Amino acid sequence: MSQSCSEQLSAAMSTAGFKLANARIQIGHARAFEEMIRSATHCDLFFVFGSFCDGWGSCLTRLDGRVEDDSDVDVSFFLDLKPLHLNSATCPSCTAGGEGQPTPAVYSDGHVPFNHDLSQPNLDIPKSDAAVAFDFIMVVPCCGYPRIELLQPGYSNRRGQPSQMPAGILRTIREEVLGSSPRCHAVTASPPGRQGHHVRVSTTLLERAIMHSLTIEQGQFFIIVKFLIKKVIRNKMSGLKTYVAKNLLFYMLDETPEEDWKPENLLQH
Ligand SMILES: [Zn+2]
Repeated sequence: MSQSCSEQLSAAMSTAGFKLANARIQIGHARAFEEMIRSATHCDLFFVFGSFCDGWGSCLTRLDGRVEDDSDVDVSFFLDLKPLHLNSATCPSCTAGGEGQPTPAVYSDGHVPFNHDLSQPNLDIPKSDAAVAFDFIMVVPCCGYPRIELLQPGYSNRRGQPSQMPAGILRTIREEVLGSSPRCHAVTASPPGRQGHHVRVSTTLLERAIMHSLTIEQGQFFIIVKFLIKKVIRNKMSGLKTYVAKNLLFYMLDETPEEDWKPENLLQH
């Protein structure tokens, strides 16, 4: 029987390197790079995040450890500050506000007030002949994550069903959010008009947990959506951010039964 268009696309993407083994090798490289930075600086407050570390999406034409010219490797540095305690945080034993304890902060719409004079908190190191581009990001530690809807008892997805998110991914997210040392943090980004007065709470570690657990079909789906946004839609209109690709992937993981993630379902019409 001849292959469907969807199966041909999946096979062609595998030939271009978009498969699990390559994603895992790239994830391993990112971890080794993180260890090298920590070792060289004698400081374990550095984290390598972003699409290179995710294993999927740092290059949209092949997966072989390459970082596209218009992409970079994100390196976050946890500032040595008292952590922020978000008022909706899942750290019930926390004694925020006390002497030497985390600073209480009111969480609203993804942001918390935080006056900072870091007008340019990040450092971009452009691509060179010797290395890919890097983006160094200063982040503010938080002692716990805000309420994560997916982990609430009785959660249902947009279709009114229980989440279809694979059990292994849910377990990893639960361990990070409810474990003894959550690595929630906030990045220096304010809502429009409030520059310098807020930080945005990041869930990048939860996203990373999901990205590291993707199957080959889920990874290929993400690459197709990111490719469409970055290389097709953006040529016709501006403003659409690539994080929308991750949002769509997470909706699809939340709503698609595991058995439906098959090469023949990658394209449907
Ligand atoms: Zn706390």
